[in-house]
Amino acid sequence: MVNVEYINRAAWLRNRIAEYDYWYYVKDAPLVPDAEYDKLFRELQALEEQYPELIIDDSPTRRVGGKPLDIFPQVAHIVSMLSIRTETDISEQGAIAFDARVRKELGLTDTDPPVEYACELKFDGLAINLQYRQGVLVLAATRGDGVVGEVVTQNIRTIRQIPLRLTGCDAQVLEVRGEVYMARPDFERYNQRQREQGLPTLVNPRNGAAGSIRQLDPALAAKRPLSFFAYGVGEVAGWDKPATHAAMLDALAAMNVPVCDERAVVQGAQGLVGFHRRIEEMRDRLPFDIDGVVYKVNRIALQEQLGFVSREPRWAVAHKFAAEEAVTTLLDIDVQVGRTGALTPVARLAPVFVGGVTVTNATLHNEDEIRRKDVRIGDKVVVRRAGDVIPEIARVVLQDRPDDVREFVMPTLCPVCGSHVARELDAAVWRCTGGLFCPAQRKQALLHFSGRRAMDIDGLGDKLVEQLVDAHLVSTPADLYRLDLDSIGRLERMGEKSAFNLLDAIEKSRHTTLARFIFALGIRNVGEATAKDLASHFGSLEKLQAADAEHLQQVRDVGPVVAQSLVDFFAEAHNRAVIEQLRSLGVHWDEHETQPDKPLPLAGKTFVLTGTLASLSRQQAKEALESLGAKVAGSVSKKTDYVVAGIDSGSKLERATELNIAVLNESEFLLLIEG
Ligand code: NAD
Repeated sequence: MVNVEYINRAAWLRNRIAEYDYWYYVKDAPLVPDAEYDKLFRELQALEEQYPELIIDDSPTRRVGGKPLDIFPQVAHIVSMLSIRTETDISEQGAIAFDARVRKELGLTDTDPPVEYACELKFDGLAINLQYRQGVLVLAATRGDGVVGEVVTQNIRTIRQIPLRLTGCDAQVLEVRGEVYMARPDFERYNQRQREQGLPTLVNPRNGAAGSIRQLDPALAAKRPLSFFAYGVGEVAGWDKPATHAAMLDALAAMNVPVCDERAVVQGAQGLVGFHRRIEEMRDRLPFDIDGVVYKVNRIALQEQLGFVSREPRWAVAHKFAAEEAVTTLLDIDVQVGRTGALTPVARLAPVFVGGVTVTNATLHNEDEIRRKDVRIGDKVVVRRAGDVIPEIARVVLQDRPDDVREFVMPTLCPVCGSHVARELDAAVWRCTGGLFCPAQRKQALLHFSGRRAMDIDGLGDKLVEQLVDAHLVSTPADLYRLDLDSIGRLERMGEKSAFNLLDAIEKSRHTTLARFIFALGIRNVGEATAKDLASHFGSLEKLQAADAEHLQQVRDVGPVVAQSLVDFFAEAHNRAVIEQLRSLGVHWDEHETQPDKPLPLAGKTFVLTGTLASLSRQQAKEALESLGAKVAGSVSKKTDYVVAGIDSGSKLERATELNIAVLNESEFLLLIEG
């Protein structure tokens, strides 16, 4: 007689599992991580094994998958699509236990040789049956409830990896079974794009794959990047089935069906353990998610001898790895400032073991993402860590939301430097506007400031910027002009000569052009070309600083986004202070150079440079021409006025001659720009 407690527990488990199944298989939106689900499922399986009288016909342990959706045509599988027993003991014991079960079922004793196994990865996607007739793909169906699946041929055809015709096989019927999955880089890219456009993101690659295949609109499905691996066959007619599972996979691969290369044939329990260990070690480097490995008895004859129990073959097992998703509590949300000033909300978590490591922080990407996922401080959240990707909050376990959760509020001032924060039109990211001042952005700002196209401080690269900042010698660009031999001489690996050269380069950079100076400020969305346009339009920094968004938009190519970036930048007092300091430290430019009113001598003329000039570099020649108002183009066309030809001029010179365009040699060119 079964204890009433067990009867109640079994009923409770069945209900819970049924609810999770529905959200997982039918809605493609799991409520809890797999590990959570597996725990309940194994508990029910164990209860039913111990007390078979608890088993009822519609127990989730008797069934496979979910109900096929009736929005798709349905098809009965010729050969049922089953599940695989899950071994949740992630230690090597899981492999040893499986081998022991197989040996026992086959009646083998300790003196018998080891059983041979085919080992594969357990892909985390959606099972698909591909029916080929005379080598041509005629039908693709999901597993559904294992007996009846959904016809998704149209959507499957959009996956380029799946051959529409098999190579070298015209069997009457060959059903290829495998997994449709979404590779991790494709998943990350898709979500990144969605986030940028303020659209919903996919919870994980598995649900991404399942949701895409069960899209009604094949055009939508086609937009989601999916891949495929075969791992078996279903109905076969007119084809000699190989004698082992491994040979069967080789045969499929020879037909140009994608089969994963990470597979092996091993002997006995120790072989399984070795495979499990090897794959777990390389798991993070795989470009797709796996939740474990699958062991299959290699000889088909032995598989037939072992047969099935309810919904699972006895000859196969899925041996899991540490889960990539886990539930924990969101303790708080901090805001981090990146090198480019982007403010990223970061979740502080109660420590949780996920994807093989203990995680205490996870990214929440941006404010919109927090709203869309309805994440509140105090929530139970699902953390996902797959591969070497930064852990993220995949979703909230809404059923378990406590009463005292708090909403997150984006700070209005940068948590690092106190400058005001701003958000671009139509963009999801808030940024600190104190680009010249903010410690978080310091290194980036200095590197940009000293760049060749900006202030052109020769020799001030990545490493040196790092050293100067870390030694607290420089925190804003203005500090560069306060350096002396004494201070930089103290830096590691800085000889007297290099120190002198650096100071010399900094000294030279004091005299610049307005355009270079504007570009050097590193204002968001203000590139080299825009800086030039701004310099020639306004003619002075004071006028540029005083301009409002409307006035700024009168400049060529300046739209509302760029105008707003400029206004935000100059509105920040911290930035204005650094500019003041730069000027009082002697950074200057010739105002007349960029006087707006005087028409420049080469205004309206287009030049093309080709070949090598002896006295100046391509960049110097370009700048010389541009400072005189000319435009420098990359290729010769009817609109070109002059081609400047140095040594080794090639096709551009030929083209110029063809089009009858004036060609200048180096000395003529020098005369022109000096005159
Ligand atoms: P399963 O996914 O564990 O095993 C069978 C499936 O494995 C096959 O249909 C196939 O699609 C796949 N597979 C991948 N690689 C394979 C390979 N090399 N060889 C053979 N098959 C391979 O079984 P299942 O019945 O679909 O469901 C159990 C899984 O789904 C569990 O991992 C469980 O955690 C998860 N699940 C989670 C929830 C949830 O709420 N989080 C709900 C239901 C199911």
